[in-house]
Amino acid sequence: MTTVVVAGGGIGGLATALSVSAHGHRVVVCERGEEFAELGAGIQLAPNGMHALDRLGLAGTVGRIAVPVEELRFMDGVTGDHVVSMPLGEEYRRRFRNAYVVVHRGELYRTLLRACQDSDLIELRASCPVVGYEHGGDEDAPGVRVLLGQGRVLTADALVGADGLHSAVRAKVVGDGAPRNAGITVYRSIVPMERVPEDLRHRSVSWWTGPGRHFVHYPIAGGRYLNLAPSVENRPSETFSGLPVPAADVRAQFAVLCDTARRLLALGTDWKAWVLVDREPVREWTDGRVALLGDAAHPMLHYAAQGACMALEDAVVIGELLNCPPRQFGARLRQYNASRRERTARVHRLARDSIRLWHARDADARARNETLAAMSATDLYDYVAWLHGARDFAPPSGSAEGTYTLAGYLGPADSGGAADDPAAPHTLGGSLELPEQQR
Ligand SMILES: Cc1cc2nc3c(=O)[nH]c(=O)nc-3n(C[C@H](O)[C@H](O)[C@H](O)COP(=O)(O)OP(=O)(O)OC[C@H]3O[C@@H](n4cnc5c(N)ncnc54)[C@H](O)[C@@H]3O)c2cc1C
Repeated sequence: MTTVVVAGGGIGGLATALSVSAHGHRVVVCERGEEFAELGAGIQLAPNGMHALDRLGLAGTVGRIAVPVEELRFMDGVTGDHVVSMPLGEEYRRRFRNAYVVVHRGELYRTLLRACQDSDLIELRASCPVVGYEHGGDEDAPGVRVLLGQGRVLTADALVGADGLHSAVRAKVVGDGAPRNAGITVYRSIVPMERVPEDLRHRSVSWWTGPGRHFVHYPIAGGRYLNLAPSVENRPSETFSGLPVPAADVRAQFAVLCDTARRLLALGTDWKAWVLVDREPVREWTDGRVALLGDAAHPMLHYAAQGACMALEDAVVIGELLNCPPRQFGARLRQYNASRRERTARVHRLARDSIRLWHARDADARARNETLAAMSATDLYDYVAWLHGARDFAPPSGSAEGTYTLAGYLGPADSGGAADDPAAPHTLGGSLELPEQQR
């Protein structure tokens, strides 16, 4: 039987196991951690992510544990003014044929895990780090030797590296070193809803903008908790993830925000901090019968709230393309790469542009507010249509014509890294903008 090894049992890895096994292939998921688990906090799933879950047969289950969101609410975090809201009601759902929801990350993960555990074709191996790979190299066995450390080897017909930001598989496929420190720290805390004053409860994803910082919050776990995620450009010299920080430190960094935003932040306890990182988009993320997926392939800032959605989309596309005999795997993985690179790079670009949008100050902030406030619900839907409305996840190349970026009104982007550097080889980020009204 054909065997596909997936390195990494995160959201992308488990979704890939489901989509690839759906075509009769055996899948072995090698997870470095001692158990298959995902830490808490919330995650937003736009309709494109829900479509992907639908294709994996899980949208119904996820729909039951998710909180549908009524609006994306944009607030000026300094003045406290409401700027604009994108309603996510019936009209939005009709247009994008699915809901925009928020879920508890652990609950989403357990849904994927249970589906994998229920499959006879999926083997889940914990404490099983993938350290590298070699090509099979001979015509009778042209597959992949997956290196597991301590001399252990797994032979496979293909390897999918879904091993996240610091992917060992990417080190060989792309070899672009450590991820880029974005100079931003995000803090996260989850607050039981009964501790949230009535007047601060909203069934929305709310953004509070501020100079060099912003603050997002939304309900999760059926509305039982409020997920708080403020972030600030405080230029940490080193990267870290999940570092406990005193509540007073978090409050001090957001003292510039208005009273309501500060009241919400004051509810947070057990704060943990992550330094945001990403990488430049690359054109090629396959090597023969080896391919990258999710954050291993195209890690992006979380400001577009789309990293997991992209991993789910990747999983659907790769699963459908690997519906073939193993001799075609190499060509199909290249096809997967080609069909996903532009869309994921555009989302990457959108996430970086969001910094300029949400962190603007003074005159730029006022210009942003005016631009946003003048947008109707239809304008806002048009703006996100290419992203939220996608159903095949693999747009034809060249479809970025006739584009604009919302952050464009602020003038040209200052260099946020090599994405804007025309000299940077094999990167995609600098040339891409948002497509206009792809319905
Ligand atoms: C603050 C924050 C908020 C976010 N919010 C959203 C959101 O609202 N919506 C959204 O769509 N996305 C969001 N994202 C992005 C999303 O979390 C990620 O894009 C997504 O989890 C990536 O999934 P993945 O499976 O590719 O990688 P990961 O989740 O990183 O999984 C990788 C797995 O591989 C394992 N692993 C690592 N190395 C090895 C190895 N060598 N061998 C074997 N196993 C290995 C790891 O232990 C892990 O289990 C957010 C991210 C952040 C940081």
